[in-house]
Amino acid sequence: MKEVILCYQGEMALKGLNRASFEAVLSKILRYRTKDLGNFRVYKAQSTMYVEPKDEQAEQLVGEAYDRVRKVFGLANVTRAAVCEKDFEVIKTTAAEYLRDQLRNAKTFKVEAKRSDKSFPMKSPELCRELGGHLLSCYPHLRVNVKNPDVTVMVEIRDFGAYLHGAKEPGAGGLPVGTSGRAINMLSGGIDSPVAAWFMARRGLALHHIHFASPPYTSEAAKQKVVDLAQIICEYTGNCVLYVVPYTEPQEYIRDNAPDVLFTVLMRRSMMRIANKIANSIEAKAIVTGESLAQVASQTLMALACTDSAQDLPVLRPLIGMDKSEIIEVSRKIGAFETSILPYEDCCTIFTPPHPKTKPTLEEIEAAEAGMPGLAQLEEKAANEVERIRIEMRKKNQEEDLFTL
Ligand code: ATP
Ligand code: MG
Repeated sequence: MKEVILCYQGEMALKGLNRASFEAVLSKILRYRTKDLGNFRVYKAQSTMYVEPKDEQAEQLVGEAYDRVRKVFGLANVTRAAVCEKDFEVIKTTAAEYLRDQLRNAKTFKVEAKRSDKSFPMKSPELCRELGGHLLSCYPHLRVNVKNPDVTVMVEIRDFGAYLHGAKEPGAGGLPVGTSGRAINMLSGGIDSPVAAWFMARRGLALHHIHFASPPYTSEAAKQKVVDLAQIICEYTGNCVLYVVPYTEPQEYIRDNAPDVLFTVLMRRSMMRIANKIANSIEAKAIVTGESLAQVASQTLMALACTDSAQDLPVLRPLIGMDKSEIIEVSRKIGAFETSILPYEDCCTIFTPPHPKTKPTLEEIEAAEAGMPGLAQLEEKAANEVERIRIEMRKKNQEEDLFTL
């Protein structure tokens, strides 16, 4: 039986004249995500994207392709579907066979029909009735329940054929990565920043990451954890670069030359200035962070205001209004949590004073910076010595290699 993946657009459908360019990006991403699994054809018709296996290998890997498609931003719903001739006899037998397991395990069902090819002779209500009757005769234990069925059988009569499937599943939502431009995400080894990246990629941003490392205070293992996190979220954000900034010298300089209570905010401003330099060098138009209002002393309103004024790119903080428990829920969902909680040090938490100021003013911050004339040069040097690590989505064969190791 021939199977395809049907991808239904969400918000993109409202994009008016720009819609075609959004769809072009989405097709490209779907093609890229399925390429290493086999020969899949990706095309669009009637507002739906089709991902269709074109050879035997691809046919066997439809399930894997489907799991990947479910992570692609820009899709409201997705489903696997059997495709057959637009002939009611064939539709009947295909539905009974394709949905056999689901129907056998269900007590109740209903049929929904959508006929976008109006030349098909049966209208939707008749199609539902007739197909429902046939399924009842094949699976006599079933009862019809239109309000709350265990299984919904969908039949869609489209231009290229009849498509049969169960209930659609939610897609990843949002907009295709890249359609909103490019930004740089400040990636620590913690829970928040991978989640922040996921939220902003979902709004269509193509992201690269910047990480500040302060060896020997932070270890090689801590850096590897950040590489691993970038790899995990790469499935959503797409291929990217992780910029690792050697931050030891600026950080020690701030520690040695600034008032203790202002240390964290001064350091965060310094990080922002370096992030700004890297962002400009790759034409990224915003900086993303995992900050959440009042989570720690450097994330009070006044501290954030001080951080914001360190540089001129917009700072996007998608977690600003979220509780930690909500952030953790998303972290688990995207598969980052177990790695995020590995106990490695982060440069943000070394040298932290016991009582950081929660209400710093810009005047006192600028006065402290005036007492650090050597900082700008150290920041410049750190930005110039940044290490670039390319992060790519795992390919099918690589996954197998890892599995057999
Ligand atoms: P996370 O917020 O990722 O769980 P955290 O809570 O330990 O880590 P915070 O002190 O809350 O870190 O830092 C706030 C934000 O600052 C992070 O979400 C991240 O965007 C950024 N950040 C912190 N440390 C670093 C770092 N070493 N490199 C890059 N960005 C960092
Ligand atoms: Mg945090």
